[in-house]
Amino acid sequence: MSNDCIFCNILAGGIPAATILENDDILAFLDIGPIVKGHTLVIPKQHVETIHEISTEQLNAVMIGVQQVAAALVKALGAEGVNITQANGAVAGQVVPHLHFHVIPRYADDGHHWNWNAKSYDSPEEMGSVKERIIASMGA
Ligand code: AMP
Ligand code: ZN
Repeated sequence: MSNDCIFCNILAGGIPAATILENDDILAFLDIGPIVKGHTLVIPKQHVETIHEISTEQLNAVMIGVQQVAAALVKALGAEGVNITQANGAVAGQVVPHLHFHVIPRYADDGHHWNWNAKSYDSPEEMGSVKERIIASMGA
C-alpha cells in the first residue's frame, strides 16, 4: 500500500471504482477514460510500480486476470478483438505508478488507431548487434 497511489486508494476502498473482477491477488476495474467502452485495468493488489518489481507468482495471477477479462469482453460486449497494453516508466507513457495492464475491446468501427510508427535497422549487422546485447544480458 502506498498512500499517495491512486490505485492503492482504489484497493483500500477510498476511491470508488467499477470493479469487474477481484480475488486475493488482483483487482480489475473499468478505466475511467476508456479508449473504447469496456476498457479495463488489471492490477496486482501488491503495490509495485513496474513489471520489473513484481514476482513471477504475482505476475502469473495478474496475467490470468487479464485473460479472464479479455474473454469476458468478447463474451459480454461482443468484442471482435482485444488489445492488451502496459507501460513501464513515464518515458513509456506510464502515468499511474502502480503496475497495470490495459485490456481494451476492439471493434471494426471503434475509430481507434495506434500511432505505431514502425522504423528499420540501418543494417543486418546493427540488428544482430542489438540481438546479441539483449541475449548477453539475460545470461548475466
Ligand atoms: P497509464 O497511462 O498506463 O499509467 O494509464 C493510467 C490509466 O489509469 C489511464 O488510462 C486512466 O484513465 C486510468 N485511471 C486514472 N485514474 C483512474 C480511476 N480513478 N479509475 C479508473 N481509471 C483511472
Ligand atoms: Zn499502488
